[in-house]
Amino acid sequence: MDMESLPRMLAMAQDKGSKWRGCFMPIKQTEYFVEEKTAEEECLTEMPNFRYIPKAELPPGITQGCTFDTVTIDTSRYLPCLLSEIRRLGCNLIRYNLTHVSQLQPPIIPRKADAIVVCAGLGARHLGGVEDQDCYPIRGQVVLVRAPWYKRGVTRSSRTGDWTYTIPRASGDVILGGFKTDNDWTAHAIASQTTDILERCIAMAPDLMPVAKCTDRDPKVMVEELRKLIVEEGAGLRPARKGGVRIESEDIMLGNGTVTVPLVHHYGHSGAGYQASFGSARLCMEEVARRISAKDTRRQAKL
Ligand SMILES: Cc1cc2nc3c(=O)[nH]c(=O)nc-3n(C[C@H](O)[C@H](O)[C@H](O)COP(=O)(O)OP(=O)(O)OC[C@H]3O[C@@H](n4cnc5c(N)ncnc54)[C@H](O)[C@@H]3O)c2cc1C
Repeated sequence: MDMESLPRMLAMAQDKGSKWRGCFMPIKQTEYFVEEKTAEEECLTEMPNFRYIPKAELPPGITQGCTFDTVTIDTSRYLPCLLSEIRRLGCNLIRYNLTHVSQLQPPIIPRKADAIVVCAGLGARHLGGVEDQDCYPIRGQVVLVRAPWYKRGVTRSSRTGDWTYTIPRASGDVILGGFKTDNDWTAHAIASQTTDILERCIAMAPDLMPVAKCTDRDPKVMVEELRKLIVEEGAGLRPARKGGVRIESEDIMLGNGTVTVPLVHHYGHSGAGYQASFGSARLCMEEVARRISAKDTRRQAKL
């Protein structure tokens, strides 16, 4: 899914005159692994211009490293652009807090649905008619800093769960992270985790500070200088699912049992919903088309 989405996003990033301008930024990404053999496991060797970093050039404590080309997404710009695009294509947006998928019929929607696609993320755990107990949160915390001079993506990860990353955006802001905590529903930022993120990020990427401020190498001073650049800090729950993304369908009875409608499940993208989006959406729409054409064939057979 990711490898289908990446070329689409790279093309959107390079189309400078398009409405997607500012949503994406092509970057050079560096990945550092504490343990051996992780680039292969994470399928990074397929990324554009992938190359291993020679061992002699790796920082202390790192056993494998690589670089490749990728693109970052400024979601605060991308989501409003996506919304305007789906409106341009003729979609109506109706906001409603559903308790059960069977509510998706008139009068809540204008006419009977040909198919229902459940994209409820973590909500699939509690939404009536779905109630997928395999859905669970993986909590993350990030810090947004203003650092327009910083243009590279760097990640340092280890099998024990340590995970530090910098993601620059086209706007000049940079996301610093991060945390991954399974089954943690705490939706607000925790001050000690913000400090921890600042400490890890400045140690990994001292160039987060402008050159003039970089002369003082005392880690505590560097962290306090970096803190002055904070725009906001936040926490979020990645909508994970045991078994991974769910793309499958079933029939649901509506109208007091008088009609059946295909119900296509499309959730559980965890921490990869953006990067997997184009590939995943295509697979989902293939399932929708398959169910609708199967239903049409059954209806014709009865005539
Ligand atoms: C800290 C953090 C870092 C991340 N980093 C990345 C990254 O680097 N790359 C990446 O690709 N992804 C990343 N993600 C993951 C990404 O945000 C998710 O994968 C993506 O948002 C999933 O999209 P979704 O539409 O499936 O679910 P969601 O974005 O959760 O949307 C589900 C929607 O359904 C609605 N809903 C749920 N239940 C109901 C109901 N009963 N009635 C009506 N509406 C309902 C919700 O309100 C919500 O609007 C990150 C997430 C976090 C938290």
